[in-house]
Amino acid sequence: MNLREHLLYSSVLAASLYARQPVAAALLIAGGVLIDLDHLALYVCRTGDWSISGALLYNRYRNQFIRPHDNRPRYGSLRSWLHQPLFVLPPLWRLAQRYPWFRPFAIGVAFHLLLDHLPLPLIWAAYWRAGGRCARCGNRQQIEVYRRPRFPDQRMQWVALCRQCANKRMWYTDHDTHATTTSALPND
Ligand SMILES: [Zn+2]
Ligand SMILES: [Zn+2]
Repeated sequence: MNLREHLLYSSVLAASLYARQPVAAALLIAGGVLIDLDHLALYVCRTGDWSISGALLYNRYRNQFIRPHDNRPRYGSLRSWLHQPLFVLPPLWRLAQRYPWFRPFAIGVAFHLLLDHLPLPLIWAAYWRAGGRCARCGNRQQIEVYRRPRFPDQRMQWVALCRQCANKRMWYTDHDTHATTTSALPND
């Protein structure tokens, strides 16, 4: 989920929970948005580029398919341990119990992680369906689950792919037809 959606959903939650407490509402929104700063921090670490515009530009093209002659570097999703609920939520709730003013911030962070992890069952199902293999070429190495348009109907679906196939435009359900169908598609 992108930053703008997080801002929107945490604002809606803040307005419904803390309609008359602007400070608490602001803390909730801060918790719901600021956790994504880990992407920025990791971007700076990987690239040495401190410019916000560079990070925003990367965020815009990172999910685009790689076309021929596109040599721009890709660094994956740049998520840190801040996005791991098991690391983050227990200490956060301990703090929230001890300091009541901190609660809205903790709710914001928890809400952010919930939104980021909503598709998790679909991701697991895609991985399980594929049996740990790339759904496109059958490779067993570097498998991750991506959201990609399916061939031929182009509907977006979660699918387990190896890194090479993830950077191609389409994927195929059937390993065996791969060799014959790929050559038929230009640009693939
Ligand atoms: Zn996030
Ligand atoms: Zn593959």
